[in-house]
Amino acid sequence: MTRSGFRTASVRLTAAAIMAIMFGWPAFASDYYADNPAPAFHSTTLQEKSPVQTAASAFPGNLKWRMEEIPSIMTYKVAFAGTPGKPASHEGMDFVHNKAAVPHVPVIAAARGTVAYVRTGCPQSSMFAHNTSLREAGAGWGNHVVVYHGNGIYTRYAHLAPGSVKAKVGDKMVAGDVVGEMGNTGRSETRHLHFEVGYNKTYFVASKPSQSFDLVLDPEKFMSVKL
Ligand SMILES: [Zn+2]
Repeated sequence: MTRSGFRTASVRLTAAAIMAIMFGWPAFASDYYADNPAPAFHSTTLQEKSPVQTAASAFPGNLKWRMEEIPSIMTYKVAFAGTPGKPASHEGMDFVHNKAAVPHVPVIAAARGTVAYVRTGCPQSSMFAHNTSLREAGAGWGNHVVVYHGNGIYTRYAHLAPGSVKAKVGDKMVAGDVVGEMGNTGRSETRHLHFEVGYNKTYFVASKPSQSFDLVLDPEKFMSVKL
């Protein structure tokens, strides 16, 4: 009994190693960011550039993953758009909340993970109209947080309100932990969360400008409910 258990484990390990070689899966631990938390923030009002991310229909090796929580509430959504293998025309999904009667809209972690990147210092000219303040700050994502979920899988929470981000690089998150508040920073037309599911072969460098994912996927594929 024990022997067959070991045998199964060793077969799985071998398959994982082969996949890692074939697909370039990151050969690193999921708690890297907890072990390497400093520097915690990249905070500047400088504008930045980041290449448009490539759309994909699945993770390399058809790696399975699912979201445990929907990252925010909304009054309407704007869907992910992109053709696999080409630069995405909309790299994530938008949760738009344009009702001023709700002054604070929390943004929460979609699944268990560790905070990999935190960008703050991006201003907004208003909450519910075309942002005219440093639209390219944070490479257009404005204030944003990236959470690492292991196996190269990340989520990005963008356009967060100034002063609302309390998450720090290395923070361990469970689904539902607050990342920040919905805002209108960066390339944004009204208060909304731009939410991305991405894959990256390498670690994010927390002290550097915003980094693109190698691949972005439609977040709605990983939700247990249809929005
Ligand atoms: Zn968006």
